Amino acid sequence: MSEQKIPYKIYLSENELPESWYNIRADMKNKPAPLLNPETKKPCTEEDLRHVFCDELVKQELNDKDAYIPIPHEIREFYKMYRPAPLVRAYCLEKKLGTPAKIYYKFEGNNTSGSHKLNSAIAQAYYAKKQGLRGVTTETGAGQWGTALSMACSYFDLDCQVYMVKVSYEQKPFRREVMRTYGAKVTPSPSETTEVGRKILKDHPGTGGSLGCAISEAVEAATKQEGYRYVLGSVLNQVLLHQTVIGLETMTAMDKYGIKPDVIIGCAGGGSNLGGLISPFMGRKLRGEADYKFIAVEPASCPSLTRGKFVYDFCDTGHVCPLQKMYTLGSNFIPSPNHAGGLRYHGMSSILSQLYDDKLMEARSVEQTEVFKAAQEFARVEGILPAPESSHAIKVAIDEALKCKETGEEKTILFGLTGTGYFDMYAYKAFNDGTMSDYIPTEDDLAKGFSGIPSI
Ligand SMILES: *Cc1c(COP(=O)(O)O)cnc(C)c1O
Repeated sequence: MSEQKIPYKIYLSENELPESWYNIRADMKNKPAPLLNPETKKPCTEEDLRHVFCDELVKQELNDKDAYIPIPHEIREFYKMYRPAPLVRAYCLEKKLGTPAKIYYKFEGNNTSGSHKLNSAIAQAYYAKKQGLRGVTTETGAGQWGTALSMACSYFDLDCQVYMVKVSYEQKPFRREVMRTYGAKVTPSPSETTEVGRKILKDHPGTGGSLGCAISEAVEAATKQEGYRYVLGSVLNQVLLHQTVIGLETMTAMDKYGIKPDVIIGCAGGGSNLGGLISPFMGRKLRGEADYKFIAVEPASCPSLTRGKFVYDFCDTGHVCPLQKMYTLGSNFIPSPNHAGGLRYHGMSSILSQLYDDKLMEARSVEQTEVFKAAQEFARVEGILPAPESSHAIKVAIDEALKCKETGEEKTILFGLTGTGYFDMYAYKAFNDGTMSDYIPTEDDLAKGFSGIPSI
């Protein structure tokens, strides 16, 4: 198909929405290592996980055989409110960069949560409802996940209890109000409502909290209330599975116009959007049908893939969740303050970790000021104010496009634009004021994190 025929935005129709999620594990020769029970250190059984997670989600978590898992009708109906998401040809950015490269991005910011997280939140809420549960508990740092889950729970009339890291609770009152508008109960963490919260408050009075601490409170709240389960917004196989709706739509849109991406880029926090975007393409690569270059982009301040270790580690600070084999900085690693809250997790999806270890995917780390420069450049020509997290992918997409300018190659670059940055204006302010700083952890900083990794 000739170049001019590719529109600025490729919209699919409702009936082109995928009917199944794609489970990349079915096509992986080296499967991700099994989760381990934190007490017995044996592979987790369905039984082990049922106390914490919904039954159907436990099955999805452990399923590495079925390549396609049907998306239930109710979830597809919800998806139709804000999906299929557009695939955008960044003509204006290409022109500004003066690159022969063709740049595309899949935009996931078209819903109130402002990110891709709703794709999994609605699935997790659906399975909880189907099981007859009363509600779910979770943690949120920056707030995107808590918002997405609040929306999903209100849709299925489930109770939603969100433990929000106290500093974010105080600094991002608007995110809190969005959640409350959807009916969620938002508690600043650490709190007096759980045993672990009370202990932390006693040991560290006045603490602003952390994600690890909020996870521990949310898990305790779920296991201590009849009819509740805990849900998580990233890292787990099930979350990555739900997010494959991003990649499947992208692939359908590209195939329709005969577009073949050479390079596929995404930001990586826990790995769910990147895994979701690349899965169907990676499937083709694994089956020998096509080849692509995949790049995971992480902050230099929290470099789990580029500087972490590929070992079994705890997923949370309280060590209540199963152990997972992944690239990790250690569950005690505290990244320096970074404005991309969604990318501050110490570990990485075990699926992506395995693919990276098998050299099927590359990873790069980028510094925050450079990321915001890219965000600004993008916002000025493409009309979307990107989330700081998403801007990590923009930064590397621009780098790749500028390389093409030097070599004259007409590569096709695809990246995931995971969300919008309207709740991140303090970060933009710091950038605009010139007060933003970059901190790269030293070998000593990393060694401290590594020392908390269990020997298994
Ligand atoms: C949470 C978040 C991310 C990172 O999470 P992943 O699980 O790695 O995808 C990226 N972008 C936005 C906008 C987010 O909210």
